[in-house]
Amino acid sequence: MVEKIAVLVIGAGQAGVAMSEHLGKSGILHLVLERKRIAERWRTSRWDSLVANGPAWHDRFPGMAFSGFGQDAFVPKEKVADYFEAYARMIGAPIRCGVEVTEVRRNVAGRPGFVAETSDGPIEAEYVVVATGAFQNPVIPTVVPESSGVMQIHSEFYRNPAQLPEGAVLVVGSGSSGVQIADELVGAGRRVYLSVGPHDRPPRRYRGRDFVWWLGVLNKWDSEAPPATEHVTIAVSGAHGGRTIDFRLLAQRGLTLVGRTEAFHDGVLSFAPDLAKNLAHGDKNYLSVLDEADAYIARNGLDLPEEPEARKIPADPECVRHPILQLNIKEAGISSIIWATGFAADYGWLKLDTFNERGVPKHQRGVAAEPGLYFLGLPWQSRRGSSFIWGVWHDAKFLADHIAKQRGYLAYRGSAAPDVGPA
Ligand SMILES: Cc1cc2nc3c(=O)[nH]c(=O)nc-3n(C[C@H](O)[C@H](O)[C@H](O)COP(=O)(O)OP(=O)(O)OC[C@H]3O[C@@H](n4cnc5c(N)ncnc54)[C@H](O)[C@@H]3O)c2cc1C
Repeated sequence: MVEKIAVLVIGAGQAGVAMSEHLGKSGILHLVLERKRIAERWRTSRWDSLVANGPAWHDRFPGMAFSGFGQDAFVPKEKVADYFEAYARMIGAPIRCGVEVTEVRRNVAGRPGFVAETSDGPIEAEYVVVATGAFQNPVIPTVVPESSGVMQIHSEFYRNPAQLPEGAVLVVGSGSSGVQIADELVGAGRRVYLSVGPHDRPPRRYRGRDFVWWLGVLNKWDSEAPPATEHVTIAVSGAHGGRTIDFRLLAQRGLTLVGRTEAFHDGVLSFAPDLAKNLAHGDKNYLSVLDEADAYIARNGLDLPEEPEARKIPADPECVRHPILQLNIKEAGISSIIWATGFAADYGWLKLDTFNERGVPKHQRGVAAEPGLYFLGLPWQSRRGSSFIWGVWHDAKFLADHIAKQRGYLAYRGSAAPDVGPA
């Protein structure tokens, strides 16, 4: 007997848990399959000291607060995972852990929905929600060959400074992961080079409010239109109780800033001459948030303390005034490189015609081009907040409503039948 279910949700990270909550509220029978444990990526795909990038009052679902943490605390990653486990228990989510979905294909003609092959046997489902995460396969640009003799890892596999061999470290990437890892390594007494690309760096706090609050009131979390480049590298951190990322201050602590890492030949790394430009872009973004915040305060007559010193940008350090464009790794003593260069999606197991030529899902707000298929947790799925904790909960609600409506239409049997039409 093949197991049958109305909705199969694949993945029990925050997206799968949120989906289960909304399907449950709509009374829709469903099953969530998770190949490892609930919120596995928070447990085993992040470095030891990571804390949430947003404060506890914001980076959570509406139905439950973090216990044991103040509203403004930045919760350690293990406790974030504990939170989703507790949340799943609270809502009674039907999650089956340790079961991997290895293939999903359309059911045979005349039978609705899909067949999912799993490590525990096949399952037939009328609807499938893919909640396997936006950050799946680590991407390392092919710049430095393995033969270079330098240890190279992606940020996904970085755990702590002790894991790295003695010597200097090059961290590539100026998003939240790159700057937080570089900061930790400097604090551990390592010689660190940080390769800085284009980025946004909003203020952590301004005039008494955290930046997540500013993004909220300025309607940026809900912004629906992705920027031209879809993925904007954004440098924020909850480490040390939450501080604004300031690359020049990192340099004052002994870190050397360099431009984008471009090439490697005969033991020599080459960096683009774009460091000053990238920092200027980040400053512009930072100052624009302050401007918009000031305008919001004035418009609404809020009584929030002025903070003129927030506009002071520190002077350029030596490494910015005279940037290093070439670096011999042996002479610089670089023994490891950490690539904080992002992730790619992997949907090879979805045998369905719902991807564009770049392998990106074709969908509208998570409703896939393939009828009955849904995606959840994609960057910019419906808005900027979609791949973040609070945003995915709202997208899950939209998808559960969509599924309920579709089931209602399908159940319609004509005017003589009772209880017809979508909810
Ligand atoms: C370093 C880092 C820090 C972040 N910090 C924050 C933060 O502070 N605040 C915030 O709001 N967001 C943060 N994010 C963004 C986002 O919240 C996380 O990436 C989050 O883990 C995404 O949740 P998800 O449920 O969409 O995907 P995931 O957490 O990736 O969950 C997907 C689940 O699906 C399972 N799975 C995958 N394939 C299969 C399969 N074939 N069969 C069965 N199961 C499968 C996986 O095991 C996994 O448990 C961060 C992201 C990163 C990379």
